[in-house]
Amino acid sequence: MANYYCEYCGTKASSVASLTSSTCQRHPNGPHKGKHKLYEGIEKNKYTCKYCGQTFSSISSLTASTSQRHPNGPHKGKHVPAL
Ligand SMILES: [Zn+2]
Ligand SMILES: [Zn+2]
Repeated sequence: MANYYCEYCGTKASSVASLTSSTCQRHPNGPHKGKHKLYEGIEKNKYTCKYCGQTFSSISSLTASTSQRHPNGPHKGKHVPAL
């Protein structure tokens, strides 16, 4: 069975409907200011930030820290997983 992950926080859900029905604690607009967003890449052992290339073992650990090459400025936003 497939797992679905939120691109912002790494929350895992068994369906897209259940994932996108609840708010995200790491939403870019602020905690719980929007819903989880489906990560459209495949499930991997390692996730790479698309801005800086740093690798992490999970989306939740990747999105926990800020990116030194974020487009809004260094550490102005979280790492974002590449697809
Ligand atoms: Zn989320
Ligand atoms: Zn990064």
